[in-house]
Order: sequence, then structure tokens, then C-alpha cells
Amino acid sequence: MAADQSAIEAETIAHLQALIRFDTTNPPGNELPLAEYLIGVLEGEGIETTLLVPAVNRAAVIARLRGNGAGRPVILLAHMDVVAVEPDKWTCDPFGGIVRDGYLYGRGAIDDKGMLAANLMTMLLLRRAMTRDGLELDRDVVFVATSDEESGGECGMHWLVTNHRDLLDAEFAINEGGRTRIIEGGRRYLAIQTAEKISHMVTVTARGPAGHAAIPLVGNAIFHLGRALAKISEYREPVTLTTTTTRFFRELSQVWPSEEERLAMAALVSGNEKDSERGAKVLSGIPVLDAVMRNGISATRIIGGVAGNVIPAEASAVLNVRTLPGHRVEDIVDRLLSSVGDPNVTITVAAKGNEAPASDPDSEMFAAIAEAARAIDPALTVVPYLSTGVTDSARLRLIGVDCCGILPFPMLQSDEERMHGHDERVPIESLHFGTRLIFDSITRVAARRASLAALDSGR
Ligand SMILES: [Zn+2]
Repeated sequence: MAADQSAIEAETIAHLQALIRFDTTNPPGNELPLAEYLIGVLEGEGIETTLLVPAVNRAAVIARLRGNGAGRPVILLAHMDVVAVEPDKWTCDPFGGIVRDGYLYGRGAIDDKGMLAANLMTMLLLRRAMTRDGLELDRDVVFVATSDEESGGECGMHWLVTNHRDLLDAEFAINEGGRTRIIEGGRRYLAIQTAEKISHMVTVTARGPAGHAAIPLVGNAIFHLGRALAKISEYREPVTLTTTTTRFFRELSQVWPSEEERLAMAALVSGNEKDSERGAKVLSGIPVLDAVMRNGISATRIIGGVAGNVIPAEASAVLNVRTLPGHRVEDIVDRLLSSVGDPNVTITVAAKGNEAPASDPDSEMFAAIAEAARAIDPALTVVPYLSTGVTDSARLRLIGVDCCGILPFPMLQSDEERMHGHDERVPIESLHFGTRLIFDSITRVAARRASLAALDSGR
């Protein structure tokens, strides 16, 4: 990073505060004014930009630093919208962007305006290094800011991929979706998301004879649904490890604070069937790790009946099924049907998710982030990570972009849990760590080696 570190840090804070002060609560989003702010800042430094308006007051910003074409572009992606707040549960204005006790507070501070600010700073610093220090890029660096990520992306990444796919042509992308976690004893690990579970909606429907509740009927649809759900509640998909999760558990076992769980992680990936089963059993007791090991089935809604004295002809439940990459939801439906074993019950896929492939944990981008992180903090452990939540990366992976999901700000779990919660905040020190991590990662993957010396001498 260039000469005046404290000026850069002040600039980063000022941009994040400005971003937070645009209320982009989605719905409705209203990201356009924020997008215009980004355009103003980028164009102010002579960076080529495109403002797209997918719907009234929604926006996408694309900015591009041109490389010499030796490699294909790399995308820096972040979303501009945020989730709603309950202002009375906050101790400060969620859209004030205040700094207090070493933290910058505000909705979006960690999801995802912190990264948006770090990406913006990376563009500005690269541009300055190009004009001042003769830095040359081997590939285009493309800044992408989207709307509507928090509500499914219809006016965001979905719209962009459908209408402006040419602008998203890239070999790699860095997006949200990972973790930089500070654990017990101050140790840190960086989890880079290379895959994510895919979310599907599945409907379980029981049918039976309708009638007056005064005459109980044997085939009552609600009773059939109840029995089916009881069986589904006991059904579990088998443990399946992928390339990403095998490495995740192997490397996490080096730093995980609980000894029992650390040993279980090592056993799980030992290759010995018995040990592996034993390890899986321990880790299954931790819901967040269990969700990484197998396809997940959660009952989320129940629908049925018209009146308290009428037996309905139909009753149904919605299951949210999350599949590991490479698994088909239809196969899970078949297994659920045979475990239910009731001809009066049907199970169908109501809405299918984006069946995105996993990205490569051995990619040049992954290695660049890992090297950049270790250069800043040699004690940092880097693990590939499969997230149980979905991000815009799924849509990019489907069009062939290799994505690395990070949350570049080192945080305790307690701070990370404020994401979508109250008093969301980013530690100031972590904001600077994250900005440097993104800048250094992009430099490693995009800068022409021979021109790096100029950058070093400009430090
Ligand atoms: Zn987000």
C-alpha cells in the first residue's frame, strides 16, 4: 500500500461512513443515490465507470481498470443493499456511521458496505499506483456493486447476468461469503468460501377425504402429514465430504480451540472409515458443522385447513432443502418419499436453487489471498470453506467465474453475529486489515510482476 498509511486509513473510514449514511434497506433498496456516490468517487480519479439502472431507484455500478490483456479479468464484487433494522434495539443511529471505542457502527458495516469500501479503496489505490508509480496490470480489475442481494437478486446479480453478461466476463471474483475469525487465545483463521450449499423449496402434501369434523375420518390429511413429518424429522442425509470440506476440517483441526472437536475433525478426514464415523458423530452435535457435512432438511412452513370444524382434503408443509455441490434435490426427494412410505403423501420440488459448481481451492486467486493474508499475519491459518448460506457467487460460478468468498475483517464470533442483528459494527483495525488484504490479493493476481518494483519503491 502506498506511502501515507494514515491518510489512506482516514479515507477508508470516511468512505465507509458515507456508504452507511445512504439508507439502502432492502426492500425497497433505493441503491441509486449510493451508486451515484460511487460513480462520483471513481470518476473523480479518472476510472472508467458504467451506471446501470435495472429498475426505478435501483442500480449497478461497474468500474474497470484496464490491463494489458495477458490474463482474463478479475472482479471485485460487493452489494449495496442492507437488511432492515429495528432502530430501538440499537444504541446508536444505524445509518449514522459513528466511530466509538475503536469500532465503526452502522447497518452494513460488515455486510456488505465494509467490503464495498475496501473494494472502492483498492480501485483508487491501484489507479494511483498506475498513474504515479507505473504499475501495470496483466488483467482488467473490474469493480462491481450490485443491488438487491438481500432479497434474492432479481434487481441485482440475476438482472446483471441476464442483461449484461459481457461485463462480467472474468476468470476470478472476490466476493463476500467467508470469514476471518479470531478464536480463543487470539489465533486467527481465514476461511475462503469456494463453495456454497444450494437452497431449494420442497413441498410435502398429504391428501385425504374431506368432511365434517363431527365424523372422524381414517384418512385425515392432517394426520397423514403429521406422520410424514415425524418420519422426515428423523431422517438424515449421510455425511458426505467434498474437496473443500475435507480440507476445511483438516486445516481447521490445527487451530480449533476445543480439543475434543479438534480430534474429531482430524478423525473425520483421516481416511479410516471407523475413525471417520466417530469424528462425524461428535461434529454432528454442532449444528453449524453438521450443516457443512451433509445435505440439510429444515421444515419451515405448514399450510392446511379452512375452519376448525372442517376436515380438509389437503395439508402441506414446506421444507427448505440445502444440497452440497454436485448433489441433486430430486434424489433427496426420492429418499424422503421412500422413508415416508405413504401413498397419500407426495413430495415435490417447488423451487429449485442455482445449482452452482464449487470453485477451485487450488486456484491462483485462492493462493493469492492466502499469501497476502499470511504476509500480513504469518500466524493466520487459511482454510477453504463451504458456506451454508447463499451468495451472489452462485450466479457467477454458473457462468464460469471462479469465486473466492471472504469476509476480510478479523472478528470475534460475537462481533460477526451482529451481521443482520443490532449494533452491527466493524473493528477499525480490522477494516484496515481487510482493505490491505484485498489490495494485496488483487495486486498479486493482477499486477504485472516487472511493474511491482515501482510500486514497492513508491511505498
Ligand atoms: Zn451480504
